[in-house]
Amino acid sequence: MKLQFMGATREVTGSKHLITTKSGLKILLDCGMYQGKGLETDAMNRDLGFNPAEIDYLILSHAHIDHSGLIPFIYKLGFRGTVLCTPATRDLCAIMLADAGRIQLQDTATFNKKRKAQGLDPVEPIYDEQDAQACMSCFISVPYHKKFNIEGEVTVEFYDAGHILGSACVYLEIKEGRRKIRLGFTGDIGRYDKQILKDPEPFPQVDYLIMESTYGDRRHESIKDAEQELLMAVLDTCTKKKGKLIIPSFAIGRAQEIIYALDRLEHAGLLPDIDVFVDSPLSVSATSIMRLHTECFNEAIAEYCKTDSDPFGFDRLHYIQSVMESKQLNVRHKPCVIISASGMMEAGRVKHHLANHIENPSTTVLCVGYCEPSTLGAKIMRGDEEVSIFGQRHKVRAELRRIDSLSGHGDYEEMIRYISCQDKKKLKGLFIVHGEEETQQHFAATLGERGWKHVSVPTFREEVEL
Ligand SMILES: [Zn+2]
Repeated sequence: MKLQFMGATREVTGSKHLITTKSGLKILLDCGMYQGKGLETDAMNRDLGFNPAEIDYLILSHAHIDHSGLIPFIYKLGFRGTVLCTPATRDLCAIMLADAGRIQLQDTATFNKKRKAQGLDPVEPIYDEQDAQACMSCFISVPYHKKFNIEGEVTVEFYDAGHILGSACVYLEIKEGRRKIRLGFTGDIGRYDKQILKDPEPFPQVDYLIMESTYGDRRHESIKDAEQELLMAVLDTCTKKKGKLIIPSFAIGRAQEIIYALDRLEHAGLLPDIDVFVDSPLSVSATSIMRLHTECFNEAIAEYCKTDSDPFGFDRLHYIQSVMESKQLNVRHKPCVIISASGMMEAGRVKHHLANHIENPSTTVLCVGYCEPSTLGAKIMRGDEEVSIFGQRHKVRAELRRIDSLSGHGDYEEMIRYISCQDKKKLKGLFIVHGEEETQQHFAATLGERGWKHVSVPTFREEVEL
């Protein structure tokens, strides 16, 4: 069999790896979108490097757009194969891909205005909401630990990766005559001892492993401190400065962790008398989906639910859907907390909140996740004095804070702990993907020091024979 790395090679977005079996079966692992590099990203997304109509199966590790975001695009180009993922991933994709379709349309409209001013022809969006809805007809949900057989040749099984709701490590057994190749794909690896989701789960021994490396050179703070840091940010901003605490957050996962942490603080009587707004239609839908998939919950939240039936809701927590209500937050003078997507501050309503509040020193921007270096979030958090939002320059006068421990990705110790379910001696290849190049080299070196062999960092479209 052949394995070709079609994306997320020496970078963190665009996850795509193509398996071609000896019999010619084509299986794609993830079909992620490149994000955060403006025009360059659009060109990268359109240049797939394979014919979508030839893909038989797409196995999806989880619903994040950098892993799933091009499924509507390949559908538009003729993909009619089967998408396999967990039930929660399927449900999240239904809302996330439609949302991505709307974003494509808006971004293209803005982009075309600029092109028109330069006397250039307009471009088509990569896909729209209709394409996103249509591609859902290809999905089949496969629960964790249920074997799915592909044409008597490949067996697929999902193991909980503890990264976001429904996230999976993909375990594959590929038959080639009398030979059996066992291939693992970690997808994104979550942290241990999280508040809502289960720990990353051990998976069976593999011969080859494709592994993420987002935080391959970082250690995180303990998760226990996050709730305290969140409380301090609320008190310092809303009580002392009488300002607004803006929390740009991924709509899926991170938003629910923040909401649940605030719920616990409120339940414990520690939250001051302020309103909390979840201003992201996607976060609102994702929270509803999370309530449905309690099979993904860990014991701690299951226990908490015995005394608080809704871990994602309390009296002064308001879920906002309409644009009108969102705009009203701009003219509201009372201190409050606004949780809004997107986490990297590149899209979504949070951009409006930043444009309206970033010049005000009473505002605090609390970054709770990873920001790809070229994104608005990264520019703000690295301390740029001025940033451009919707084409307007804004001075950054807001206070900047960061909570790293809420990361959806494990740090390098957690990732190494995760793969310790594997016998090092039996592993014939460990491919490091999904990380910035410097981080990956660091991670590969650390793995080498710890006795892991056959570690490599594939290049873009590199093909290996397994
Ligand atoms: Zn992810």
